[in-house]
This record gives sequence, structure tokens and C-alpha cells, in this order.
Amino acid sequence: MRVVFIPEAERAMRDHARAEYPHECCGALLGREEGNTRIVEQVIRLANERTEERERRFYLSPQQVLMAERRARELGLLLLGFYHSHPDHPAIPSEYDREHALPYYSYPIISVMQGEPVELRSWRLKEDRSGYDEEAVNR
Ligand SMILES: [Zn+2]
Repeated sequence: MRVVFIPEAERAMRDHARAEYPHECCGALLGREEGNTRIVEQVIRLANERTEERERRFYLSPQQVLMAERRARELGLLLLGFYHSHPDHPAIPSEYDREHALPYYSYPIISVMQGEPVELRSWRLKEDRSGYDEEAVNR
């Protein structure tokens, strides 16, 4: 799988990551699928519902996932996945991320170093949840 962001969607995601620093941001990706390519056309900011350790972790309630599903349907788009940021950490999923991820969805991570969003990598959980496959981003 490849993930391609239209420039406005990528900018909105990076702006969100910068705004939440030093906490993690998270949001939903809406768009289309063409063959093995996911095209992200819009992002929705979601609230990080964790009340502690918000620098390191994020939590999305089922209600927020449902809301994102509904919003996608209204727009005639698909819910493709969820992004989040890693303040001052590389764009690699943590053990916590793996435990909370669902198959099918794309999970882009943006590394935010000293307040500036830098590396963007995307991950997809293997069907047996043993690990991730990395997805190509914007290429
Ligand atoms: Zn993470």
C-alpha cells in the first residue's frame, strides 16, 4: 500500500502536530482508494482523550472513530486511517501504538523535533497483529 496526501491535507496534519507540541496530536484521514494507493484528501482533528502522559500516548474513543466514519460517509469518502505525532521521538510506532492499532487502517506518524514537524512515515498493522508493514508516503 501507498499513501499519498494532497498538499492541503498534509499541511493541515503538520499544522496540527506543530500546534499540539509538546503533546501528541491525533486525527483521522479521509479520502479514496485507487488500486493499492490511498489518497488522503482531508484530515479531521480529533481530541487526544488521554488525561495523562499526553506527550507519549494518545487514545481515541469508539465514539470519535464512529464520528469520523460518519463524517467520511457524508462526504462520500472513506475513513482510511489515523495519524498522530511523536514529539521529540522518531516516526516509528511504539509498543503501545501496536496494542491499540486496528488492521486495515493506515497509521501515519509525524515526528515533531523541538516543535517542528519533520519526518512522516506511515504504518499498517499486519493481519496477525505481530507487527507493521511500512507504507510508502507520497511516492
Ligand atoms: Zn505513537
